[in-house]
Amino acid sequence: MNRKIRILVIEDEQAIREGLIDVLVFHKYEVDSAATGPQGLEMALTGRFDLILLDIMLPGMDGYEICDRVRTADRDQPIIMLTAKTSDEEIVQGLKLGADDYVAKPFSIQQLILRIEAVLRRSQVGLEQARAISLSGIEIDTRNLTGTNGTKEFAFTKREIELLVYLAEHGDRPISREELLVKVWGYAKNLDIETRTVDIHIAKIRRKIELDPKDPQNLITVRGAGYRLMVGA
Ligand code: CA
Repeated sequence: MNRKIRILVIEDEQAIREGLIDVLVFHKYEVDSAATGPQGLEMALTGRFDLILLDIMLPGMDGYEICDRVRTADRDQPIIMLTAKTSDEEIVQGLKLGADDYVAKPFSIQQLILRIEAVLRRSQVGLEQARAISLSGIEIDTRNLTGTNGTKEFAFTKREIELLVYLAEHGDRPISREELLVKVWGYAKNLDIETRTVDIHIAKIRRKIELDPKDPQNLITVRGAGYRLMVGA
């Protein structure tokens, strides 16, 4: 991964929030932060983050609710809960709601960084597994950005592969252009004027993976819902 790993810190205590930002930036992460529950939820739902560090006691909305709502929107979003409470019940509740891990405050920086690295490693297992995408008549090698139909090889751009990987990982449903812009492009705003970007990329991909790009069988349009990749067909 060449791009920087993006982390969202949702923590209301200024000293802890700023301390976390300093440490994470020092470790070469790109960091955004929120100081209230609603602001954190908004950022979590509209941005694209590799990991969310989520405090539990927050003004406006607590970390449990944020975790629950982020999970409902995106099952795969890695989340580490920051808890001042060390009772098993609190921790179990966080993990039940889908947090990947928790770190009890006060935490050592070294321990926190190790936990972050472990969660990021686990979350990339999915990418490893999606290394090859099998479509009707087409095999795509996501690592080498290439595809073949058995007789001809062709190259994809990195963005095209990211788009294909996201569609493949969610092959059980059509994905809206807005979701693709947020999750693949990392856009947070003005989605309505950017949806053509998605269409242009889809058209370019179809010229490579479809026998007849005007009658797509692999990357289909689901009217009113978005695009769906027919993986393993
Ligand atoms: Ca707090």
